[in-house]
Parts: sequence; C-alpha cells; structure tokens
Amino acid sequence: MPKKHPKDAAELIPDRPTIASIRAAAKDCTACDLYKRGTQTVFGEGSSRAALMLVGEQPGDAEDLSGHPFVGPAGKLLDRALAEAGIDRAEVYVTNVVKHFKWEARGKRRIHKKPNAGEIAACRPWLDTEIALVKPRALVCLGATAAQALLGKSFKVTAHRGEFITSSLAPVVLATVHPSSLLRAPDEETRRRETKRFIDDLRQARRALKL
Ligand code: SF4
Repeated sequence: MPKKHPKDAAELIPDRPTIASIRAAAKDCTACDLYKRGTQTVFGEGSSRAALMLVGEQPGDAEDLSGHPFVGPAGKLLDRALAEAGIDRAEVYVTNVVKHFKWEARGKRRIHKKPNAGEIAACRPWLDTEIALVKPRALVCLGATAAQALLGKSFKVTAHRGEFITSSLAPVVLATVHPSSLLRAPDEETRRRETKRFIDDLRQARRALKL
C-alpha cells in the first residue's frame, strides 16, 4: 500500500509527544512542498529542558546536508557569540520555524530562498510542539522571519531588537538579528559593530535568566 502523506504536520505528532518522538516523526513530513527540495528534515536540537530556546528561519546548505541546525558558517558565528555572551550552547535548544532548506540554484550553488507564509504555517505545529515540550524560560527569535512568525507580521526587528516582548511563548521573549546577516555585513567595521550588538542581545537573555 502506498505511504500516506499527511498534508497537516499536526497529524504526524504522536500522542504524548517527546522531543525524540516528534523529531523522528518530522522525518516523514510532507505538509508543504519543501520536503521535495531539501535533503532531509532538519529538526531542532539541544537539551529538552533548556532554559533558552533560539529560533531561526530555516536550515541552510550545510544544515541540509548534515541534518543538524546551525552547523554552517552562521551556526559557527552563533557558537562564538553565545560563548562571548557567557552562554553554553549545550544548555540551549536551537531550532527553526521551517525545517526544510528552501533554495534556488545559482550555477552549482544552492542559494537560500525565504520561506513563504504557507510554508511557515505548514511547519508551525512542529515548532509549537517543541516550545510546549521544552518550555524555555527565555525564547530568542533570530531574524525577521522567526520574529514575525512568532511575534506578529508587523514586528520589526530593526526597531525592537533586544527589547523584552510580552508574549505567551515564554516568560522572557526577545528578538535579534539572524547570525547570517552578520556574515553579509558590507564591511569589516559594520560586521564588528553588529556582532557586538548581537552578543549584547544574547547577554540580555542570559541576564534575564540569571544564568
Ligand atoms: S518544511 Fe516543515 S511543513 Fe514543510 S515538509 Fe518540511 S517539515 Fe514539513
């Protein structure tokens, strides 16, 4: 009998879910067309009791190939920023609003393409379940896609980065830029300055958690 492909990710979430069981279930997700393009589902990782959850947009090229979130250049920058902010990545749960890599070909390269509202909505049951299971004390949105998905379409990271936002998602919620934006800085001085601001935003979360 042909395999059933649910169009709603929520149908794949097992009764009494755990992070391990939803990660396994998400491997078979076909709730939007991105599963056809990505190599594999890249689910969130980290301690299921993490005090701090970081939510980005979607996996990139390196993440798609490895199957792990935040392992490419932006992930390495994030690791350094977390260390500078005094946060142990082992204590953090990292995930994305969309679990498959959306890309378009440019020559031999696969270039990141922003997920659309339908893809973000289709993937939302996975993220909602991750948040419900981990119950982070602080949640940090990395970049506009994550911030607008979780805090509302009109949320502007440029205007409100590093501010504490009242939200039912977690006791402490804030948004900052995505580390990949730091890699795209036009010059070294801008990159240094913006990286420092990024680290300061992460420090805000750490202080609020009293880590
Ligand atoms: S991006 Fe999300 S909703 Fe779409 S197929 Fe992948 S896991 Fe499912």
